[in-house]
Amino acid sequence: MYKELVEFCSDRGITLVAVTKIRSISAIQNLYDSGHRNFGENRVPELVEKHEVLPTDIKWHMIGHLQSNKVKYIASFVSMIHSGTSLSLLKEINKRAANNERIIDVLLQIKIANEEAKSGWDMEELISQLSNNELQRFENIRIRGIMGMATFTSDENIIKSEFSNLKSYFDTIKSDFFSHHDYFDTLSMGMSGDYKIAVAEGSTMVRIGSLLFQ
Ligand SMILES: *Cc1c(COP(=O)(O)O)cnc(C)c1O
Repeated sequence: MYKELVEFCSDRGITLVAVTKIRSISAIQNLYDSGHRNFGENRVPELVEKHEVLPTDIKWHMIGHLQSNKVKYIASFVSMIHSGTSLSLLKEINKRAANNERIIDVLLQIKIANEEAKSGWDMEELISQLSNNELQRFENIRIRGIMGMATFTSDENIIKSEFSNLKSYFDTIKSDFFSHHDYFDTLSMGMSGDYKIAVAEGSTMVRIGSLLFQ
């Protein structure tokens, strides 16, 4: 499935993040050898371990829930953090990025699913923080866009409307707060089960795991 997905994404100018959680080093190395560079992990220990043994030009994406006290383990190498879910977490990412003399790309994760287990900003709260310039003031963070996960359901209408909402949040935040920043260009939405819907609704980055390894 890898070749089809690569083609699907490159035809549309979309970035494919290969989600490698639970996958072996050799499975990842195989994708690397066929030219893939963007990889995602959802847990810090696995991310650190894989980073240590795999080639250094891999772009590692942290896609899962991130606790502030774990940021220090990934700040020296992580390429993008998709799970920017609070002001205090951004503060910590900024501090650790500065310690490493880096600027880290971060996405603001917004809660679009109606499931308790899924985290992220409430849109009203996010707008209020952005209006107060709380999130844009960090010198060692570049806010590249937003991320969201749809409800786990077989009802495609629900998924479609959640992704459509996320796309309109993206457009609003970009025009109201980042219109002078070319780098606000990333809408991370879509996984194995729903990436086609996500792409139809305007995704620029999909995070795909299980489907890749079939
Ligand atoms: C596991 C995971 C994915 C990929 O899920 P698949 O269904 O295996 O494609 C995407 N995003 C996040 C945040 C994940 O934890």
